[in-house]
Amino acid sequence: MMKNYQSLLSVLFISGLIVLLFYRMMPQDYSRNSASLTEFSTERALKHVKKIAQRPHFVGSENHPEVKNYLVKELEKLGLDVQIQQSAILSKWHNLVETENIIARIKGSNSKKSLLLLSHYDSAPHTKSLGASDDANGLAVILEGIRTFLQQKQTHQNDIIILFSDAEEVGLNGAYAFVTEHPWAKEVGLVINFEARGSSGPSMMLAETEGGNAQLIKAFSDAGATYPVSNSLMYSIYKMLPNDTDLTAFREKAAVPGFNFAFIDDHFDYHTVQDNYENFTPECLEHQATYLMPLLTYFSNTDLTQLKSVNDEVYFSVPFGFIHYPYSLNLPLLLLAIVLFFVITIIGLGKHVLDFKEVIRGFAPLFGSLIISALLAFFGWKMIQSLYPAYQDILQGFPYNGHRYIVAFGFITLAVCFWFYAFFIKSTKVANYFVAPLFTFLILNGLIYVYLEGASFFIIPVYFGLLSLGLFVFNPKIKWIVLLLLSIPALFIFIPFVSLFPIGLGLKMLAGSAVFIVLVFSLLLLVFGKFSNKNTWGWLCFLVGFVFFILAHTESGFEKGKAKPTSLLYLSEANTSKTYWATYDKVLDSWTKNYLGENPVLARQLNKNNLTSKYNSGFSFMAEAPSKAIPAPSIRFLRDTVIGNYRNVKMEIIANRPVNRIDVFLDNKIKIHNFRANGVQAINQKGSYFVRKDSRVLNYYPIQNKPLIVQFQIAKDEKLQLEIMTSSFDLLENELFTIPDRPAELMPMPFVLNDAIIVKKKFFKAKPILKIAGEQVEQTTVQDSIITQKDSLDAN
Ligand SMILES: [Zn+2]
Repeated sequence: MMKNYQSLLSVLFISGLIVLLFYRMMPQDYSRNSASLTEFSTERALKHVKKIAQRPHFVGSENHPEVKNYLVKELEKLGLDVQIQQSAILSKWHNLVETENIIARIKGSNSKKSLLLLSHYDSAPHTKSLGASDDANGLAVILEGIRTFLQQKQTHQNDIIILFSDAEEVGLNGAYAFVTEHPWAKEVGLVINFEARGSSGPSMMLAETEGGNAQLIKAFSDAGATYPVSNSLMYSIYKMLPNDTDLTAFREKAAVPGFNFAFIDDHFDYHTVQDNYENFTPECLEHQATYLMPLLTYFSNTDLTQLKSVNDEVYFSVPFGFIHYPYSLNLPLLLLAIVLFFVITIIGLGKHVLDFKEVIRGFAPLFGSLIISALLAFFGWKMIQSLYPAYQDILQGFPYNGHRYIVAFGFITLAVCFWFYAFFIKSTKVANYFVAPLFTFLILNGLIYVYLEGASFFIIPVYFGLLSLGLFVFNPKIKWIVLLLLSIPALFIFIPFVSLFPIGLGLKMLAGSAVFIVLVFSLLLLVFGKFSNKNTWGWLCFLVGFVFFILAHTESGFEKGKAKPTSLLYLSEANTSKTYWATYDKVLDSWTKNYLGENPVLARQLNKNNLTSKYNSGFSFMAEAPSKAIPAPSIRFLRDTVIGNYRNVKMEIIANRPVNRIDVFLDNKIKIHNFRANGVQAINQKGSYFVRKDSRVLNYYPIQNKPLIVQFQIAKDEKLQLEIMTSSFDLLENELFTIPDRPAELMPMPFVLNDAIIVKKKFFKAKPILKIAGEQVEQTTVQDSIITQKDSLDAN
């Protein structure tokens, strides 16, 4: 057993390594204005962030063109010719919006393929997001980066294209417009995209490519970023999820590879009014710049035609390094580890250094700790959610005190590990108990090889574990300090995932963190297992965990800057003249209760034609609302006639009031062909068939109330039954209402249509009109008269 001072030193050493690990993930300070003009200055870049993030600038908002003009001027100040690409794209999610991409180009000396730098300049709609991190940050990095690059007068072969894309938040419309319509798109060899999904934390690299990543990863490594944070497990998971960044448009439509750089911590600020300059972390921008500057130099001089590959690489970052090797090594590394494991274990048993019974016993504390701590984290988080129900209204799944919970559950897990091993390890031969974790890791790596090859680097710490066991078998008196040093790879490789999973995917992943902690603990067993006071260490960890639960509790309330997301909508159903207040909130507060009352009813009946939102949120509660003079939409038929087997419909959809959004629904059993909205066809249209998942046909974001004309074909006997929904995002400003601003501790809920006045109206027309408007035939305006009895609303 270890002496107490040795245990303490081990704990201090391990803690120090963990601090170093997180400290080295990103710059801890940022560059100031005093930096010479040939150096990147984050302080200079921050001016852009401050300017752009003053007010919401979503597509169609008053400030959207102002941000556009600002960016054009800033690019012109750098001496660049700026062009605006105007387009309209109907995305695969059926979003239609007119876009204006901002594009500039720096000529290279001998360009085969161009390097494209990308960020979007719109902010998230209808939640008053200020878009400081998402994505003024990206714009500022590129502006200051290009300024520095030009100031340095670097010579470069490749052309550099700058694309500030529009309408990313609507449905990547600007990026799709560039890729599918702009003549320069064919020249692009690589895209570097800057994004954010929170307001702090290290910026991580996510490669995106159609084939294998080998060339991309090698080139990234050669480019030599100072603080690379990335790994191929993230890449594998990202490939499995339906991903959506502007880069996706390049990969899908032009097979152009690229790198995304994004920071994701403090997810609760994402797409909210709190994504502001004050909450923005300048070190994140500095981190983005530590990627941009070396990559800009490297990729503006590299042959960008050579970035495609059929092979993949395993890669991961550690403090001061980025390690990568080909997938082809994965199987040999796994097999060799298995062979070594059996050789060492058999020799150990033969030399009676290991005892077979004790070795088998070693599985009990390992699986005991794994199961108990995973269950504790899973049900513990469920219990916390029921104790603090308002957390559910933070749809990101990461409350303001989320980091406290990660630490709290982390220490509880450590306590469980210490207690289990204190109970089971009776002999002094801790090595017996180290065989079970190594065996389990080999099984795990076998599964990884088959199902999730990107995580194959999990074998590296196993090798260090095998080395530890091997050294012990040949010399049971091996110094503890050697074993401590051999534990470094396990810490550097696994500890980041303890926080990365819950930060990336929400606190529902706390059980995953617990599993990682147990796995690391088990790989460090030759150190921890030798502690003489394991029970005491268990209690100490428990105490720290408990303190963090208390800290989390003291920070569980809402206040300015840590506001509770809330939602309120006014909904008018024109066919029945019924009007409602509605909310998505699970927990109501004094502000929403003003409208929904103390005992609101469940809003199931309002959720029929559900608007797809990121987390599929439906309305939770509703209450009757006073009727207001808000005009309903109408339809003007321009054509409704049968030709051959098809009923051809062309109509203008008129909002009859200023709106920000028009949604069109049509029974999803009806097959639609040759759909066009304002003359645009969907980018994922297959032949003539209009592909859709649900009843929604169109989600249109009008700019300055530009009219909407849709045309399509349906089978000739199909009845036409449409629902039109118009939304204006002005519930709090509209003169017909006197809704007070939210108190400081509340903010608009992100990801959902919010603070809106919605009017829904159904239209039904069984038979074609057989008239063609505008062609010397009378126009037919469809009014309530053609709504049949059965279509009177109240769609339960
Ligand atoms: Zn964004």
